[in-house]
Amino acid sequence: MNDQKKSQQTLPDIQASFSDWYNEIVYQAELADHAPVRGCIVMRPYGYALWEEIKKVLDKKIKDTGHENAQFPLLIPESFLKREAEHIEGFAPELAVVTHAGGKKLEEPLVVRPTSETIIHYMFAQWIRSWRDLPLKINQWANVVRWEMRSRPFLRTTEFWWQEGHTAHETADEALLEAKTMLNEYIDLAQNYLAIPVLAGKKSESEKFAGADTTFTFEGLMQDGKALQMGTSHMISQQFAHAFGMKYQDRTGGESYPYLTSWGATTRLIGAVIMTHGDQKGLIMPPRVAPVQVIIVPIYNKSMPNADVDTAIASLKKQLDAQLRVKIDSDTQSTPGAKFYKWELKGVPVRLEIGPRDIQQQTVIMSNRVTGEKQTVAWQDLDRVLQETLASIQALLFDRAYARRATQWHKCAKLTAFAHDLETKGGFYQTGWCRKRECEAKLKEYKATTRCLIEERQFPVCFNCDADSPSDVIIARSY
Ligand SMILES: [Zn+2]
Repeated sequence: MNDQKKSQQTLPDIQASFSDWYNEIVYQAELADHAPVRGCIVMRPYGYALWEEIKKVLDKKIKDTGHENAQFPLLIPESFLKREAEHIEGFAPELAVVTHAGGKKLEEPLVVRPTSETIIHYMFAQWIRSWRDLPLKINQWANVVRWEMRSRPFLRTTEFWWQEGHTAHETADEALLEAKTMLNEYIDLAQNYLAIPVLAGKKSESEKFAGADTTFTFEGLMQDGKALQMGTSHMISQQFAHAFGMKYQDRTGGESYPYLTSWGATTRLIGAVIMTHGDQKGLIMPPRVAPVQVIIVPIYNKSMPNADVDTAIASLKKQLDAQLRVKIDSDTQSTPGAKFYKWELKGVPVRLEIGPRDIQQQTVIMSNRVTGEKQTVAWQDLDRVLQETLASIQALLFDRAYARRATQWHKCAKLTAFAHDLETKGGFYQTGWCRKRECEAKLKEYKATTRCLIEERQFPVCFNCDADSPSDVIIARSY
């Protein structure tokens, strides 16, 4: 037992050094590995499996709301990005540009897509001829590149994976409804699948997407008190429609330009899951997206041939496979203790132990990753008990995260009063704001930003000056 303990690496203290804990768990749980190119990661099978589960849920939502998937090129002519002034200004510092190909210098440099508005709008201009072509609702699952100086796996990487939805509509109201509909789908994904309570609302002028009229955001509050933007949905500026000549014949026979939206969520969602639910033992996967929901650890001893234990477990797994994602850890080189440790680290919600005595009695020992509770369950009840246990873990994770966020959500009138806590303890600070950039810029001194404007109005004046505040704002430090 001692040797086995020694061979297990321990994780940095989650309370004292959250950031080290995060970096370690990503590698120890085999979610990702370093890539030879700085700022890039390799998603390992376990990390990619989590992404696939998230994709499955989101892809269904995207299709159920009337969008179709398509695939656009990785390379975009540089001139496309320059057509919309704010867009190029926002992205210029992060662009990777191809200048040579096929052994010679290119006449026009090509940009590796940082996002695909420009190439998709170029195509939209050719596809939208009449009002009958609207709405046009496209989604793309892709990788994008935004050069990062300081990267962290899943949170900020030079290359990341995402979906980007792009739509065109006849009226501004329809486009606004679309942007809000997709924001709500994201909120449902975050809260009901990832078990992460989110704050949602509009971004300030300075925080919105380069080229958007309005940006909606949804954000989680991580265990260290920092906000994490988990995704955004935008009303794109009409400038784009004009820049790409997206003219069409409207219902009156006149010429109009469509109203555009775009919305995206990235592999950052994996970072959100890690930082919201993890504990000192490792990850905790929300059951609805867990790559493995139930891990079975066989217990071998001399009272029964190993092959008989394996046969019994295989038939039990078969019974569960229809409803659940179940895996057997049949590694004969590791002790059961080492396996328990490994799957706790990987955050599998439920573990079943089965040995000769359990097989004779037709029972299993079930352990709950979150509560640590163990119970004996009869085979005949196993399906039902597992479903109930996974549902209760899903609910518990959300409730726990919600309760924690409540203790980290502060309401405070003046920056002078909360600046110190904002900088040292983190958390959400709900307050009033006049909407002036000078007041917002003041937050930089505390490494904080406005995260999101909300509709509530508990504070009638600005956190910094004495001007009127139209509605409250949430301020936080963020990733
Ligand atoms: Zn002010």
